[in-house]
Amino acid sequence: IFISFEGPDGAGKTTQIKLLKDYLEKKGYEVLVTREPGGTNISEQIRSIILNKNNIEMNNITEAMLYAASRAQHVSELIKPSLEKGKIIISDRFVDSSIVYQGIGRNLGIDFVKSINDMAIQGIMPQITFLLKISPNEGLKRRFSSDECNRLDMEKVEFHNKVYEGYLELESLYPERIVGIDASRSIEKVHEEIIKIVEKKIYN
Ligand code: C5P
Ligand code: MG
Repeated sequence: IFISFEGPDGAGKTTQIKLLKDYLEKKGYEVLVTREPGGTNISEQIRSIILNKNNIEMNNITEAMLYAASRAQHVSELIKPSLEKGKIIISDRFVDSSIVYQGIGRNLGIDFVKSINDMAIQGIMPQITFLLKISPNEGLKRRFSSDECNRLDMEKVEFHNKVYEGYLELESLYPERIVGIDASRSIEKVHEEIIKIVEKKIYN
């Protein structure tokens, strides 16, 4: 089973993924946690190019293609083989991030971003995508108190608002896959809701 986590910066994806992993491992499942951009050696190298705060001249199409390239390696080297081994894979972001950040945030269009990611994902999509919902403002506040800074920190709040609207649009387009979670609540409340949904999926 393949689970992805999506949402604005500071929504708590990384925290919730760690809690879900610990929970599932205690139940005896083999769990692989990974992230995008990243997850493999090559993909992490591409990540550092994308997020390098000195790369301010990066073209939007270049950026979208680097995300897709990073994803192609991630899927072929890690996600696909792990799924074949029967592991539970939890990814911090997947192709939905490209659709909303590059397709909507950067105005490249959903169709363009989908098309350059088609070959990269080899038909592999998550069975569940948790969309952790928090207003971009609230998320950015949380983020600046934790993460390291990157090239995206130069984006104005309007960019993040657009991205967030994009997420809400995807949620309404794919209601059977994307599960919206109110991430403004406590870490424990959010975790409880997530494990209920994952258990339903595993035991059905
Ligand atoms: O989730 P994480 O914090 O690792 O993401 C790194 C940065 O890359 C974030 O600032 C996020 O907003 C940005 N990003 C992006 N386009 C994507 C994925 C992430 O701009 N497709
Ligand atoms: Mg994170």
